Amino acid sequence: MDEKFMLEEISKLKKEKNIKIFAHNYQNHEVQQVADYIGDSFYLSKLSKEIDCETVIFCGVKFMAETTKILSPQKKVILPVEEALCPMAHMITSQDIIEFKKHHPDFKVVAYVNTTTDVKAYADVCVTSSTAIKIINSLEEKNILFVPDMNLGSYISKKIKDKNIISWNGYCNVHDKVKKEEIINIKNKYPEVPILVHPECREEVVNLADFVGSTSEIIEYAGKLDKKKIIIGTETGVLHVLRKLNPDKKFDLLSPSLICINMKKTTLQDVYNAATGKGGLDIEIEENLRLKALNSIEEMIRLAR
Ligand code: SF4
Repeated sequence: MDEKFMLEEISKLKKEKNIKIFAHNYQNHEVQQVADYIGDSFYLSKLSKEIDCETVIFCGVKFMAETTKILSPQKKVILPVEEALCPMAHMITSQDIIEFKKHHPDFKVVAYVNTTTDVKAYADVCVTSSTAIKIINSLEEKNILFVPDMNLGSYISKKIKDKNIISWNGYCNVHDKVKKEEIINIKNKYPEVPILVHPECREEVVNLADFVGSTSEIIEYAGKLDKKKIIIGTETGVLHVLRKLNPDKKFDLLSPSLICINMKKTTLQDVYNAATGKGGLDIEIEENLRLKALNSIEEMIRLAR
């Protein structure tokens, strides 16, 4: 279908049906251009409660659309592509947490927001990469099980020395692919160029970076840096945002493997189909499960303040 026609129709439908479009930073440019709000998971989660609209079209992966529905059950939440799933979110199940708690009753379970609703329902608190350190620091308990990302868990445990943090063995199959040799090669080639990476990268990569932070922290830090060229070690979609905000700077990707195929599944056509009501997954969550998962998300929002 013609792009100009779809752009005009989406804009009309947004007004007629009181729709807001949320897009994660990792979405394709064609999707980001129709979004009302672009950001990371924490920003978009908080926003979903504050925005007054009837429908949210969430361009991201399923757990993100589910988080929006958990927080705003009265809104219709549509994920444009049903198959847009985060593989890491499925590396742990609620049964795994139940079993762990049975044997370790003195542990607090902290779940990265990149988890299924089922897992959130059994976790004590959720965190995002930008809030994890602050939230875990504020917990009274010394023993923490962090799920599911072992790389983020390892990064956090180095920053919080006075807690016993055990990490689950999940990982993001995009960030985890970045190799130590890639960062060494770039450092040797461009010793003056700062390298900013996401803590979902492996410890050996994180240790060599000039800055480590969540997507929003990378965007903020890159904007303030007095450098003309910056290397980015997170999903390629963030380059659209960085280039738009900093037209005078040059941004390159640390590794060609930093492409999340799930984040790239959503096209403008899918957003158009969702807006017309002819496509996408209408997110539904059983009420008892939603309320259980809501506790850990609300705890995250409260402790991140
Ligand atoms: S980038 Fe990694 S954590 Fe994010 S959605 Fe893709 S697979 Fe999941």
